[in-house]
Amino acid sequence: MNHFELRDGELHCEGVPLSRIAASVGTPVYVYSAATLRRHFNVFRDALRSHPQIGEPLVAYAVKANSNVQVLKVLAAEGAGADTVSEGEVRRALAAGVPADKIVFSGVGKTRREIAFALATGVAEINVESEPEVKLIAEVAAELGVKAKIAFRVNPDVSAGGHAKISTGKAENKFGVSFAEAARLYANASNHAHLEPIGVACHIGSQITDLAPMEAAFRKMRGLVESLRAEGLTVERLDLGGGLGVPYFNQPEPPTPADFAAMVARVVDGLDVQLAFEPGRVIAANAGILLAEVIHVHERPEGRRFLVLDAAMNDLIRPAMYDAYHDIRPVKPRGSETAVYDVVGPVCETGDTFTRDRPLPVLAGGDLIAFMSAGAYGSTMASEYNTRPLVPEVLVDGDKFAVIRARPTYDEMLAREMSAEWV
Ligand code: PLP
Repeated sequence: MNHFELRDGELHCEGVPLSRIAASVGTPVYVYSAATLRRHFNVFRDALRSHPQIGEPLVAYAVKANSNVQVLKVLAAEGAGADTVSEGEVRRALAAGVPADKIVFSGVGKTRREIAFALATGVAEINVESEPEVKLIAEVAAELGVKAKIAFRVNPDVSAGGHAKISTGKAENKFGVSFAEAARLYANASNHAHLEPIGVACHIGSQITDLAPMEAAFRKMRGLVESLRAEGLTVERLDLGGGLGVPYFNQPEPPTPADFAAMVARVVDGLDVQLAFEPGRVIAANAGILLAEVIHVHERPEGRRFLVLDAAMNDLIRPAMYDAYHDIRPVKPRGSETAVYDVVGPVCETGDTFTRDRPLPVLAGGDLIAFMSAGAYGSTMASEYNTRPLVPEVLVDGDKFAVIRARPTYDEMLAREMSAEWV
């Protein structure tokens, strides 16, 4: 459930009509609902907590899904931890008030500097993705004179995820170590003066709408915990990653957080381990929309009808990158007449097409539309391609709204570039 609804003939975010935001901030603009973020986080965590086999989980929100510090603050206030993949994300989580001992640091290519920063910060766990990385972490920890808390990210070789580009749990993907490597590396690390292996982790993909591959991967992870313990090794934490899918309108209905939690409870029954989760999309996707204005409708003599928007692939790249589907809704629907559109942006790429042959209510220049379910992997993947100012973000809470990332001016954009004396 989310808080984007038609009221008095106009789409609102909670108590705020979207046209008010467009008039005040301009378009394109991302709009997030704080109430929806809170609700999604609590539904997810409460579903897990309701199972005694799970206990009190660490729910480390995947910052990459939507990393605005104000969004993180809303979630931190509910008790969220943070799953991060760069020094920048760790800094964002800290700036939002997420305690360091709830921050998980993942990612296949952490640099020496990033590792040093994470260790100095005292993050809860660094998820190690390869043997060279264990060596690097050990080296940096020794230099700093600390003991690094690490978990091994294991690649369970299970196929899952809504698109090949977001499937991460197959042996051919770059993420994590194999089960055999994990056992050897874990044992070695536990004898190292500057490493403290505390657990194992997995994340098999994103936009997963079927629990079966997740369950298969989690069962393998349970087996790994048991075999490590049988070797006399201590395993305190099992991090089961993120990946739960969301309804993008025309796609298979994903399992609910309650279904997911019941499956996890079955798998971990009797294991006695602290569980961690890294949900991103399921928290943020349906808590945000991208609001855009129709520039004009271009009807080609060959018969195609292009709805040209002021939003483009640089603002929301998911359709171009993953063939993703976003429901498109008029902010002020008029009547029931529909027409078939190719919905495009102004960027000079044929890939700047949000959808083709989509029946939509009849629209005209000046109308506002909303791309629904755009709160995750929307603004975080935006760019300034074609020298289009980075899309701003607005947070709504009840009847209030605030700009939480400003649209840069052209002067600001150009001022970032430096002159080379010799040009
Ligand atoms: N954890 C890791 C390591 C990831 O790479 C990702 C996404 O790519 C996530 C968590 C979040 O996934 P999702 O947004 O599908 O929940």
